[in-house]
Amino acid sequence: MSKILRINMDDQSHKWESVPKEYETLAGRAFTSAVVNKEVEPTCHPLREFNKIVISPGLLAGTPAPSSGRLSIGAKSPLTGGIKEANAGGLTGNRLGRLGVRGIIIEGAPPTDTKDWFSIVVGKDSCKIVKTNNYAGIGLYELIGKIWKDYPVKPGIIGCGITGQRLMKCAGVFGNNPENTDPGRYAGRGGLGAVLGSKRIVAVISDPTGGAIPTPKDKARFDKGRTALREALQKHAVTGTLNDDEGNPYGGLKNYGTNILLNILSEGGALPTKGFSSGRFSGAAKISGEAVHELVDKTKAKFGDAAEGRYAHACHPGCVMSCSNVVPYEKTGKAHVSPLEYETVWALGANLNIDSLYDVAEMNRICNDLGLDTIEAGNTLAMFMEGGIIKYGDGAAAIETLKEAYKPNSVIGKIVASGTQSAGEAFGITRIPVVKGQALPAYDPRPIRGIGVTYATTPMGADHTAGYTIAAEVLGIKGTVTDPRDVKKADLSRTFQATTAYLDAVGYCIFIAFAILDIDAGFNGMVDTVNAFLGKEIDVGEYGMAILKNERDFNKRAGFTAADDRLPEFFKTETLPPHNVTFDVTDEELDAVFKGV
Ligand code: SF4
Repeated sequence: MSKILRINMDDQSHKWESVPKEYETLAGRAFTSAVVNKEVEPTCHPLREFNKIVISPGLLAGTPAPSSGRLSIGAKSPLTGGIKEANAGGLTGNRLGRLGVRGIIIEGAPPTDTKDWFSIVVGKDSCKIVKTNNYAGIGLYELIGKIWKDYPVKPGIIGCGITGQRLMKCAGVFGNNPENTDPGRYAGRGGLGAVLGSKRIVAVISDPTGGAIPTPKDKARFDKGRTALREALQKHAVTGTLNDDEGNPYGGLKNYGTNILLNILSEGGALPTKGFSSGRFSGAAKISGEAVHELVDKTKAKFGDAAEGRYAHACHPGCVMSCSNVVPYEKTGKAHVSPLEYETVWALGANLNIDSLYDVAEMNRICNDLGLDTIEAGNTLAMFMEGGIIKYGDGAAAIETLKEAYKPNSVIGKIVASGTQSAGEAFGITRIPVVKGQALPAYDPRPIRGIGVTYATTPMGADHTAGYTIAAEVLGIKGTVTDPRDVKKADLSRTFQATTAYLDAVGYCIFIAFAILDIDAGFNGMVDTVNAFLGKEIDVGEYGMAILKNERDFNKRAGFTAADDRLPEFFKTETLPPHNVTFDVTDEELDAVFKGV
């Protein structure tokens, strides 16, 4: 029986509530967005007492359905001013799912002169809100180590680092990985780490003791569905097994991680390079997924069992696609950072014209330690380069600039942690790559129009995961690639946005999309798991659209209009080499995505 935990940080009290009828089928993003839309005043200050932060495991989190242990965090975003849902793997989704927690709603805030910091410890039918001043003001690698020592039951941990504690808009919500070696599982986007910081909360700790695997209403159908989905995932060339029957490398994500995309996007001329000024990066191969794979193999050969580098690493228990990795130091074979994702490599590498794998991994580690979203941090550093404060390609200077964010009184550090728009405006830049205040991810919208339509129109601010049309426009579905330059992409983007919202709610990782779009049995298996779990038939598209309606309703009431569903002007006026194209989608086409919604 799922329950809702409601915490009031005015006086650090809590109560358990039963799940109301209207939320019976809602979890993950469906739950967070419904609660935020219903309970948060859209015009409130996002970093004061009237905002709420909502944590919800996906519907299937904790079950044996493959790759279904994702976690959603929602609130009004300090970065966009609109509604936000950010989604991550890690341990917490699994733990909360097994503890029967449908969602945690954190409201209120301690008085503004409070100096204390708190942690929330959630167990089976229990909650403690404890003063943990010793958890604040330290790096996140140290913090997760301390927490696992204090709670030796392998808890899930999420929370905010020092940038979130200082209310910086670039701060994400971190999560620990299953081994607790890295705080790199980020619900990174939208500055939600700062919302947690505004409640004076450093960590939410999920103690798994007494938890149980959730039971589907129709177990036979659920098991049949998860088997079909698992088979599709293992068979597909993107999501499949590490090696084929002959022992050759097979599954793209397992071998090369999400960073398999770097060379592909660069070759295709759509990898934003040097501050969105080119679509091709000459140093791509050096920082690619293939380069990480080689480094891992090299250090394994040299250091044997002592080598800590890995590919085919799972970010949460039960992920069969395992796109995560552990990047080793070349000289010692010890772990440098985990995971090094495509988006991070792009943001801190190609986008800054930096082709050193070490420098990129080092910046990733610093971001993980500080509690910063790597996409926003990379775009923010690009503003420093665009403004001539540091030079494009200067990895050492980028690392030093990022490190300024450790210092509580560094003005540079505050700008680094405040996000792309703030930094761009501070430096007088007129080509700032943001939508609704949030920085663009790693696909240039000029040669790939569908993803540009998603960036412009999603309620989340620029966000590739909100409607990943790249699956159709670059990788293809059932052998057919949708022409990326076609400007009629409203229907494609809407379909992907609705389907993604559904996946974010039920707890599946969006990367299952590659297999379920190609293999019908996998798609049907996914639907079977969800409907068998609920004991009710729900429609993927309708369920997803209902989430989007909630989100758009919130944004409308916060003051957003069609004018906010646009890309920055320079994408329409500056051509992108090598294809020399601009973003030619009309405003009418953008407005068609949610016409009547
Ligand atoms: S595919 Fe990657 S991101 Fe998705 S759940 Fe698995 S390890 Fe995590």
